[in-house]
Formats: sequence, structure tokens, C-alpha cells
Amino acid sequence: MTKNKTLETITQDGDYDPHSMPVEKARTYIQEFLDPVTSSECVSVREALGRILSKDVISPVNVPQHDNSAMDGYAVKGTDLTDGRKTDLTVIGTAFAGQPFSGKMRSGESVRIMTGAVIPNGADTVIMQERVEKKNDNVVSVDFFPAGANTRKAGEDLKLGSAALHKGHKVRPADLGLIASLGISEVMVYRKLRVAFFSTGDELVGVGNVLSEGQIYDSNRYTIFGMLTELGCELIDMGVIRDTPEAVESAFTDSTSIADVVITSGGVSVGEADFVKPILNKLGEVLFWKIAMKPGRPLAFGKVGQSHFFGLPGNPVAVMVTFYQFVQAALKTLQGQVTRIPAPTFKARCTESLKKAPGRTEFQRGILIKTKDNEWTVKPTGDQGSGILSSMSQAHCFIVLPTDMGKVEAGEFVDVQLIRGLIDS
Ligand code: AMP
Ligand code: MG
Repeated sequence: MTKNKTLETITQDGDYDPHSMPVEKARTYIQEFLDPVTSSECVSVREALGRILSKDVISPVNVPQHDNSAMDGYAVKGTDLTDGRKTDLTVIGTAFAGQPFSGKMRSGESVRIMTGAVIPNGADTVIMQERVEKKNDNVVSVDFFPAGANTRKAGEDLKLGSAALHKGHKVRPADLGLIASLGISEVMVYRKLRVAFFSTGDELVGVGNVLSEGQIYDSNRYTIFGMLTELGCELIDMGVIRDTPEAVESAFTDSTSIADVVITSGGVSVGEADFVKPILNKLGEVLFWKIAMKPGRPLAFGKVGQSHFFGLPGNPVAVMVTFYQFVQAALKTLQGQVTRIPAPTFKARCTESLKKAPGRTEFQRGILIKTKDNEWTVKPTGDQGSGILSSMSQAHCFIVLPTDMGKVEAGEFVDVQLIRGLIDS
């Protein structure tokens, strides 16, 4: 795919305003500036789970290969039957699944047949056993069914030469079975996306250490690790980078030489960006946005060397919200995924009033509760501060409050967006 815009052309767009970037616009700009991976590798069927196909999977056979029975019953010739009456037929043999009847069936004859067995030569219809009366060992009386009834046709699932799965499809458990059902043992998938990530901040300390005054544990590298792992990326954890120009510059030089994507947290807010910005502008082309959203206002995006770069805010909730709202979809595109369903949103009745100022999109955290009347309601998690990471742990969903919306009254309907990984039962 060739990108249809460059960062330079984005900034020439009449609507471009780095200081007030609507969420949707930022999503669009990001998607227009992505170069997905192109190289691929051959993997065994099982290894393909969660990977993105880089070539159509072409069916080398008809599925099913032969016309076969959908029922236990008797295979007959449709032309032997008459509507409105029973027909007596001579039973000349039996067809089992995997053990076909080898003879030829003539008019006036039938073959006892099991589900999945190949329709015998000369037959075209199956009468299920419940509609058959056994007169003696050799003769059955069958009800009328139209020609072709109760049979599955060769190729009705997949035709020889047709694409069973398309390039750009993410392989799911059903697909593993489908690929195996074609007798295919290996498929071509895009190579995994290599994503480097680091945290920035002099106050950050790694787990296992004792905190001195003013220090905090680095949690962002853990949430980012989790979100990237769920997306099936190859991870390069670069640790914590101190707030010095030298440390930041060398972290970018090192990470962009090995990764397709570099994700950082912290260091892009007002003040801090003043020191990070010149380094990134020297090394690449990066835009610093103030997104009209809460949480997650500052966001940097661009290219440093060959790598795509996402500079997420430092606040732990803002990191997760910006990842889910911008980075996740971008990574899927970069992985080569074409067909996908956007994060499902639906309406739920809000159990409490919500504070909201018009002018920005808010992603409040909510807990879904089903009422006795089978109605979905949503309750905010409590304090919506962008540092309250426990709100993300409790949350089932984001309560998405659009830009123009003001305060929400208790009992009003709001849009909720499920958080990835929630549905696991
Ligand atoms: P910054 O954008 O660097 O100014 O960070 C904003 C806030 O997020 C500050 O309170 C930071 O201490 C906090 N923060 C930044 N990075 C992390 C991190 N990796 N883990 C936890 N909190 C962080
Ligand atoms: Mg910082």
C-alpha cells in the first residue's frame, strides 16, 4: 500500500490545527500515514492463530468433495417417487461415512445410508429413516420428498479454486479448522510487527526497587506490554529513559534502528515536549497534537527513521485511552489486517449523572450492569482522574461522550465501547 499523504501534506490541510485536533480527525490522519509490513513467512496451521494472512488461502478441493447425505436414511432416485404417496423400493446395500456403496443403484432400488456417506451412483435424494417403513429385510416403503432432498452437494461449502480466506484476514480458531479441512498444512502470514517501547521520566522506578521521595513505579510499560501482547506484536522493552537530551536521543536512535513502531509514554506534555520536540525533529518528522479529548490530550505521532512513532501522554489512564483509541487500530493496519470489526459500541442507560464540558470527546470508564429487565446500564467507575489506573482495572467499557455533548443526567442513554479482552467467557 502506498500512503496517500505525507506528514507535510497533513499540515497543509486547511483543517489542520495541532492545538485542537478532534479525535476522528487524528484517527484519519494516522491511518493515512501508515506503511504496513510487506514481508511474510510460511507457518504451520497452528502457528497461524492470531496472525494476518499475506496470501489468499485457495481451496485445492471441493468441500465437501462429494455429494453426501445430511441424514441417516435411505438413498433413492428422485424420479422413482410420486408426490402424495408412498413408494416401495428394494434395498440393495449400505453406505457408511468413509465407506461408500460401490455398486450402481437402479430405478426401484434404494441404499441404506448414514449421515456424511457419499450418495451412491444412481441416487440423488435421501429419505430420512423416520419417514421410511421397513416392510421386510429387503423392501422399504418411503414417503415422497422432492429430488435432491436431504443431501449436501459437492462444493457447497467451498468450490475448488475459490478463496477460502482472504489476504489481510486475521486467523481465528474457526479458520484453523477451515484450513485443515482443505488438507492445507502451511499458510503465508505477514511477519510480526516489531514494536519497541519505553517510558520517560526521572521520577520513574522499576518494580522491585524501593521508592525514594517523589518517585513512582513505572506502570505504563506494563499496561503497554499487555496491550501489545494482546495484539500479537513482537516486543522490544527498552526500559525507563531519563529526562536528558542525550538519553532520549540515544533511546530513539537505538529503538528506531530495530523496530517498525516505537511507542513512548510521558514527555509529550507542555514543557516536557519543548525538550523532546527538537530531538524528534532532528531525527524524523513528528507532529505534536493536543487532541480535543479527555483523558489523553497530548499525543505525538510521526516517523522517526523507518519507524512509526507514537508518543503517548504520561498519565497511566491517558496512556491506555490513547492506545485503544489511536494506536490499536494503527497497529492492526501496520500488521496488514484488512478485514476487521471496529470496537463495538452500543447504548446503555447511565445510572448516574456525569460531568462533561462541551468541546472535547470524553472517555469515561464504566461498569456494565444488566438489570432484572435485561437492560444494560452503565455506572461510572468513580473518580475519573487520568492518574486513577484502578478505574481501568474496574472498567468494562469506555463511556464515550461526544464533543458537543454537555453534562449527562442520570437515566440518559450514553454510548459505551467495550474494552478489548473483556469478553472472555
Ligand atoms: P508527563 O507526560 O511525562 O508529564 O507525565 C504525566 C504524569 O504521568 C506524571 O504525573 C508522571 O509522573 C506520570 N507518568 C509518566 N510516566 C509514567 C509511567 N511510566 N508510569 C506511571 N506514571 C507515569
Ligand atoms: Mg515526564
